[in-house]
Amino acid sequence: MSKKIICLFDVDGTITEPQQPITPSVEKFLYETVKKEFDIAVVGGSMLWKIQEQLGGEHIFEKYKYVFAENGLVAFKHGNALPSQSIQNMLGEDSLQDFINFSLRYISELKLPFKRGTFIEFRKGIINVSPVGRNCTKKEREQFNEYDNEHHIREKFIQALKKEFPDLGLIYSIGGQISFDVFPIGWDKTYCLRHIQGYDEIHFFGDKTIEGGNDYEIYESDLTIGHRVTGPKDTVNQLNVLLTLVKENREKEQSNVSMQCVL
Ligand SMILES: [Mg+2]
Repeated sequence: MSKKIICLFDVDGTITEPQQPITPSVEKFLYETVKKEFDIAVVGGSMLWKIQEQLGGEHIFEKYKYVFAENGLVAFKHGNALPSQSIQNMLGEDSLQDFINFSLRYISELKLPFKRGTFIEFRKGIINVSPVGRNCTKKEREQFNEYDNEHHIREKFIQALKKEFPDLGLIYSIGGQISFDVFPIGWDKTYCLRHIQGYDEIHFFGDKTIEGGNDYEIYESDLTIGHRVTGPKDTVNQLNVLLTLVKENREKEQSNVSMQCVL
């Protein structure tokens, strides 16, 4: 019997360039080649509307068996919503406000080459904090990212938050170019795995798989087979390798079966 496999993809930097729509060639490959062999699913840290914008709008639910936004705190199977939780229930309004107030104060004292708008984005299971503001153009994102690589703005910010809130049970995760995510322990991308059942293998593909990256926990999880990718092109290459392997294994099994029949 061949194994039942699902391929689960991170979005930014894995099947799309950061913040960009999926290219027609990658989409065609996933939909017409990969989906013939395996079930496919996506898990992003962003909000659902953003992931939809990148992956085919309303049709996203036809294309992917599972769609997980906000690490799976917002989850759909065949387009039907699955149960979820919220960060305000988890933390309580009081702690939540302390956290937001501290972050806004910290940002107000930061001097950067430039600042834009939307510094804190409140989602269902994640608080997204951007020292430069999320309303950046693509070019500004890249500029901030370069600046951050040199000056470690996000890392220092996270250190300050950890020091201020040691007991809130929060995890900080740098993903993308301009922000970091904050969420309760266990609400990283492994959260979505509780919704996936009935597979022999879950293959996860992600680009931020080193410690501190937003794919780290799910990549390392015992429940997944992790694939570290450098971008959409690499994802396609690694999928081709996986497809070839599965095909070879199936042929081997079939020839074993026919050998047994002969014997
Ligand atoms: Mg990514």
